[in-house]
Amino acid sequence: MSEYLSLTFLKELHQLGLAQTVEEEARLSQAFLIYRQELLSWNEHTNLTAITDPEEVLQKHFLDSLSLLPALPDAELTLIDIGTGAGFPGLPLKIARPHWQVTLLEATGKKTKFLSHVIEKLHLSEITVIHGRAEEYAHKEAYRGKYDIVTARAVSALATLLESGAPFCRIGGRLILPKKGDLALELEQGKRTAGQVGARLITDLPVTLQGLADGRRILVWEQQKLSPATYPRSWANMTKKPLG
Ligand code: SAH
Repeated sequence: MSEYLSLTFLKELHQLGLAQTVEEEARLSQAFLIYRQELLSWNEHTNLTAITDPEEVLQKHFLDSLSLLPALPDAELTLIDIGTGAGFPGLPLKIARPHWQVTLLEATGKKTKFLSHVIEKLHLSEITVIHGRAEEYAHKEAYRGKYDIVTARAVSALATLLESGAPFCRIGGRLILPKKGDLALELEQGKRTAGQVGARLITDLPVTLQGLADGRRILVWEQQKLSPATYPRSWANMTKKPLG
């Protein structure tokens, strides 16, 4: 596999305001190469991703994760990524912003095992991997109402994401949810759900990065008050009887 990242990907990093110095470009290149290498080699025995083309990993996993950056402040913050899978979007974001405190929450043990392995390879600190379910951790005092930022990509419909994600958010914190495709109905329901869990939609940002300009957007929700203690309900209830 290539020892280098593609020129396209490097240009996209620049477009995002990343890799502005030679040192930063070298640091990011090395980290993303290691991440891709480990992802694709583990994927041969552990089901982590359907994407196996090296350039597609850069675009559809790394860049797509980094496309959340324009919706996020650069300052120090705490972020939890729910249903992170092989680390998306939380791990590329941590690589781009090493000063953030990132928690990766994932229900499948073979995926958290991969995450712990790749984090060690990347020598990252201030990053925690949790093998567990969002609807359980959201009720634990140490996690509830604590995070500046909650993210989740490709985990479930908006109503479920909001019900399970908003309880992690501190007041004034944000849920940053990437979405693609026709969202009209889901978004109307999502807005009603948000009201029930103390959040409100504040921005709907289109993704304009070359290569990802196919109707992707980043929905930004602000937590205005804490979610009622009854939320989140069980996963079955959230998905079968969604709020909104
Ligand atoms: N966010 C990753 C993975 C998406 S697949 C990406 O975009 O590539 C959805 C992931 O969410 C799966 O790995 C699944 O195990 C995890 N998941 C589903 N329900 C969950 C829950 N209730 N709590 C934690 N993780 C969950």
